[in-house]
Amino acid sequence: MTGKIIKGIAGFYYVHVVESGVYECKAKGIFRKDHIKPLIGDNVEIQVLDEENKEGNIIEILPRQNELIRPNVSNIDQALVVFAVARPKPHFNLLDRFLVMMEYKEIPTILCFNKEDIAKEGRLDELKEVYEECGYPVLFTSAKEKRHMDDLMKVLKGKTTVIAGPSGVGKSSLLNVLFPEANMETGAISEKIERGKHTTRHSELFSLGEDTFIMDTPGFSSLFVMEMEKEELKYCYPEFESYNGTCKFSTCDHIMEPGCRVKQAVDEEMISKIRYGNYVDIYNEVKNRKRY
Ligand code: GDP
Ligand code: ZN
Repeated sequence: MTGKIIKGIAGFYYVHVVESGVYECKAKGIFRKDHIKPLIGDNVEIQVLDEENKEGNIIEILPRQNELIRPNVSNIDQALVVFAVARPKPHFNLLDRFLVMMEYKEIPTILCFNKEDIAKEGRLDELKEVYEECGYPVLFTSAKEKRHMDDLMKVLKGKTTVIAGPSGVGKSSLLNVLFPEANMETGAISEKIERGKHTTRHSELFSLGEDTFIMDTPGFSSLFVMEMEKEELKYCYPEFESYNGTCKFSTCDHIMEPGCRVKQAVDEEMISKIRYGNYVDIYNEVKNRKRY
């Protein structure tokens, strides 16, 4: 039968099979045969050894749709990037880094701004405008007041979604409202900071009904090391798409070059100044291969 690896601990893989539950599996044969390591998110063929105790062997890893390196997971349909409208106030540079990473991996991304209950007048429109212009669906939610949770549910249903975002924005709270049985840990910001970096948690896929999965990604909120070349960055900004290749220099990276149409669009407020500023930052970082 086939299932999906939802967790891996100490050489055991936990394979979720719709209808019949979770099997504890080993994957020795696979290592020998294909020399690939099973990943969380992999769809696998298993052989059940003991139905009563739910034990089995992974006998085949089905072809992967995609693979993320950090966290090392496969078959992600989309990402949900969660920030808070306030407390903590959104760190736009970090937000754009998440978006760049997803563009680079060609993973469709939905932006969710939580804590809409404490948004200041006008704030939501501002956020919506900037990111919708770039082509990202934008949701506003309040886990606290359970607002717009149906919108969120709608985008998650039937998909495997990786959740990303800094700590304290309400990721666990949102999931707890949507899927009380998943029982994510929530905590005040200060508690989280106190717990510090020493707690290593495992990546895990939560099954939220038949074919809906959520990837809780400890460490994904921390920053990633860029693997891309600086020339590739401009393709990770959807709003640059119609300008790429049209500047005075066809290879323009939209930084300091004369006759740059992207810079002109920024001046004319067709492209967000904040997004462009973050682009320049990230570009210089990639160029200098600095680690963030
Ligand atoms: P995580 O670190 O992203 O998983 O964030 P948590 O779910 O642990 O939430 C962090 C803090 O924000 C907690 O104190 C929550 O009670 C609070 N919180 C979560 N969602 C909301 C919301 O929609 N509105 C408000 N005002 N506070 C929220
Ligand atoms: Zn240019």
